[in-house]
Amino acid sequence: MRYISTRGQAPVRDFAGVLLAGLAEDGGLYMPETWPSFSAAELRAMRGLPYHALAARVMRPFVGEAIPFATLEAICRDAYAGFGHPAVVPLVQLDTNLWTQELFHGPTLAFKDMAMQVLGRLFDHVLTARDARVTIVGATSGDTGSAAIEACAGRARVDIVILHPDGRTSEVQRRQMTTVHAANVANIAVDGTFDDCQDLVKAMFADQPFRQEMHLSAVNSINWARIAAQVPYYVAAALALGAPDREVAFAVPTGNFGNVLAAWVAGRMGLPVARLVIGANRNDILARFLASNDMSVHGVAPSLSPSMDIQVSSNFERLLFELLGRDPAACAAAMAGFRATGRMPVPDAAWRAATAQFTGFRLDDAGTLAEIRRLHEACGYLADPHSAIGIAAARAHPAPGGVPMVAMATAHPAKFPDAMEQATGIRPPLPPRLGDLYERAETFTRLPNDLAAIQAQVRATVLRNAA
Ligand SMILES: *Cc1c(COP(=O)(O)O)cnc(C)c1O
Repeated sequence: MRYISTRGQAPVRDFAGVLLAGLAEDGGLYMPETWPSFSAAELRAMRGLPYHALAARVMRPFVGEAIPFATLEAICRDAYAGFGHPAVVPLVQLDTNLWTQELFHGPTLAFKDMAMQVLGRLFDHVLTARDARVTIVGATSGDTGSAAIEACAGRARVDIVILHPDGRTSEVQRRQMTTVHAANVANIAVDGTFDDCQDLVKAMFADQPFRQEMHLSAVNSINWARIAAQVPYYVAAALALGAPDREVAFAVPTGNFGNVLAAWVAGRMGLPVARLVIGANRNDILARFLASNDMSVHGVAPSLSPSMDIQVSSNFERLLFELLGRDPAACAAAMAGFRATGRMPVPDAAWRAATAQFTGFRLDDAGTLAEIRRLHEACGYLADPHSAIGIAAARAHPAPGGVPMVAMATAHPAKFPDAMEQATGIRPPLPPRLGDLYERAETFTRLPNDLAAIQAQVRATVLRNAA
């Protein structure tokens, strides 16, 4: 399988190449040159497989010749072995024709583990084959950093340095990062905001000599391998509910558009996906786009679902590329216009094509708390604020004709104890394997918002492990 950039000016790469590159050199995102597809018979043959085996089969066409299938299977088996549920991605029925799929049984209790656990192992494999090392640097306000640290801790070929804003993440989120004790992990608490952390990371990537010396790399949500690793759970849910002989619809709480894009990809690969509903909080750029072709940037406002507090959904560019008939020049022009004006000019026909497949839904904090309470009263289920938005989206836009609807549950309710208590009076406990999180020792370095100090710390981490 070969990958091309949505902006058409970057080298064509294979799966291993796009895994290591992340963003394309022209600023675009990598996409498969053609969409692989599964026949109905091939899909039926995947029914009943353990999740790791299904995941390897679904990812196989994207990986292509880059990694032997037996290795991919071993990577998937190992990646999901540490999950806290034997089904890995269990389905829970909430109502007639309504299910939720729990994607939060990984080590950090959020859906990012689904892809990140595979990614860390893929990095190790590809870097060993090339006899190379990378240093992953990233900024986090919460979930992504801990998922990346859990995925990379102890890996032979990877060092990881994560910046978080000192005192501005939740305690659970900070402890999930700072209690992982491995020589190749460094946490830096920056005296500044999340935006300061992001600017520091950007500055490190822009410093070419430093970037080359440290072999900097990123595992952010524009990495195609993350999308590829998110397709299998849609296939698993659909097969369990009767696909390919019955349609299924999905509702997805959305931030950077990575998770719901994977659902769309599953449809392109032959899964009978009737409809995709996008759940948003008050940061509703995608819902506004679908309602009235208004893709315009407003400021980010904090909400009870912080992982969906985004200004721009970076993976939307991949859908845009498809909507524009895979015309890289048109895609590059639309993105340039977006950057220049804060508004995305999407031609009417492309917008209509999007609305035929996606429905937008928006819920503010009061509505989110009400949905958490309602759900708990109706069936005793505790959904975290992100998941509750997905479930409310599914209820607001049921698929016609009794098509089963699956809302993606993206975080464990114990990650958001205050919101859960406010809505239901219950503070959900952490699962037993994380129960001692508040007693574990933390390791992190506090540093000023100063590029030279941060770079020195990155270099020290890398040198420690190169020795
Ligand atoms: C990252 C995240 C999301 C948003 O997913 P995208 O792929 O960015 O759309 C939703 N919920 C939780 C809990 C997350 O961590």
